[in-house]
Amino acid sequence: MILIQFFFFFFGISGLGGLSTAKYLADAGHKPILLEARDVLGGKVAAWKDDDGDWYETGLHIFFGAYPNMQNLFGELGINDRLQWKEHSMIFAMPNKPGEFSRFDFPEALPAPLNGILAILKNNEMLTWPEKVKFAIGLLPAMLGGQSYVEAQDGLSVKDWMRKQGVPDRVTDEVFIAMSKALNFINPDELSMQCILIALNRFLQEKHGSKMAFLDGNPPERLCMPIVEHIESKGGQVRLNSRIKKIELNEDGSVKCFILNNGSTIKGDAFVFATPVDIFKLLLPEEWKEIPYFQKLEKLVGVPVINVHIWFDRKLKNTSDNLLFSRSPLLSVYADMSVTCKEYYNPNQSMLELVFAPAEEWINRSDSEIIDATMKELAKLFPDEISADQSKAKILKYHIVKTPRSVYKTVPGCEPCRPLQRSPIEGFYLAGDYTKQKYLASMEGAVLSGKLCAQAIVQDYELLLGRSQKKLAEASVV
Ligand SMILES: Cc1cc2nc3c(=O)[nH]c(=O)nc-3n(C[C@H](O)[C@H](O)[C@H](O)COP(=O)(O)OP(=O)(O)OC[C@H]3O[C@@H](n4cnc5c(N)ncnc54)[C@H](O)[C@@H]3O)c2cc1C
Repeated sequence: MILIQFFFFFFGISGLGGLSTAKYLADAGHKPILLEARDVLGGKVAAWKDDDGDWYETGLHIFFGAYPNMQNLFGELGINDRLQWKEHSMIFAMPNKPGEFSRFDFPEALPAPLNGILAILKNNEMLTWPEKVKFAIGLLPAMLGGQSYVEAQDGLSVKDWMRKQGVPDRVTDEVFIAMSKALNFINPDELSMQCILIALNRFLQEKHGSKMAFLDGNPPERLCMPIVEHIESKGGQVRLNSRIKKIELNEDGSVKCFILNNGSTIKGDAFVFATPVDIFKLLLPEEWKEIPYFQKLEKLVGVPVINVHIWFDRKLKNTSDNLLFSRSPLLSVYADMSVTCKEYYNPNQSMLELVFAPAEEWINRSDSEIIDATMKELAKLFPDEISADQSKAKILKYHIVKTPRSVYKTVPGCEPCRPLQRSPIEGFYLAGDYTKQKYLASMEGAVLSGKLCAQAIVQDYELLLGRSQKKLAEASVV
């Protein structure tokens, strides 16, 4: 009898979903091998160092108090001190008062949801009292109905839901354009209301749910590397520059091997695919296309987004040690990373990192057009310090990272299309933020998806072991 003590699992990775799957499989005693197409770790949290030694990133990334799985992961890796927690406030620019901001401050002394309610009640600059009352009444069914109500709202856009609940359009315009763009890089007429309700639930039901943290440096080294080191310390492997080109099948429709770009084949006892959904759809084997589990993925499509970094010749004053909601038509959230992030600290010059969204109309435009448009918006946020023609603060350099297909676009009706991590093909699993988990398309969602995927594989261990032994027995008979 042949005893197989460890399975070898193979992935299309290494975003946070794949890294998390591998980490939890390694913890369970398995030896995963991770295959990453690019020469950099992290997928949507990937970052690069330029010739001056400055980092630029795929996205401005914020961690929330309402990210339990992510915080557990930091704890398990012993890197909790790498999260730089900020004051518990949400700060919105005021488009009609250039250079001014309006704050929602969550009092430390109060438990949730009282701290959130007080933060909203105390802010009179963005919403009037009648608007707050109508919004609160509109939200009542969500508060009373719980998760089943939240899930049932997936069919409606944010804008339609607000109107159905009698919430004035001004509430949508003042608050939910910014929230929708921050959550999914699209506007409230496109975003599913379920997405907002999930976020509100997490933010308002936990005392520090909406409290934000920045990583203290570039994500590949400060977050991904400790996960890789953990996996390798348990006998797993991570291989960069290993792009999967094809999923080759056995006659029974199960996975025979992955074929890489360099022609090599990778065999295993179980396979996890943790690429973005758009890439998985491109590589989906013909034989699987009629299976409803895979057919449903058609509706999940990545949304374009652009991440802009501008290094200025001076320290900008009209900023804060926190995330800021720009409430500009072209931009979403931004931060002065020379203040918010330890590795990027600079006492003399500011580096603004900005999420440019919605980006549908901009993704194919040139970098200089994007910078010009960004500078026009920045002139409204920093009227005393920035002008579009650079007669005030001057640009020392910039980097623009375009992601034509980022997280899946959370339009109404998407939720039933998200796949469970265990697929109907024996020995084949999916991970990644788009797979079914109770968080949104986020770092937390990706990490949780990996944990769920690893759990499914561990549960299937006996079955997978049986399959491997059968294959070996068949091979020795031949
Ligand atoms: C601009 C921006 C801002 C964001 N801000 C936040 C935020 O503030 N907070 C938050 O929680 N989330 C944020 N997110 C979302 C978050 O980054 C993602 O949800 C998360 O990182 C997704 O992880 P994933 O593992 O599911 O997918 P990915 O990170 O996309 O990982 C997939 C991996 O598969 C690899 N791959 C692709 N094709 C192949 C192939 N053929 N073979 C082998 N490997 C392959 C890719 O290179 C990649 O490494 C943001 C995203 C962006 C783009």
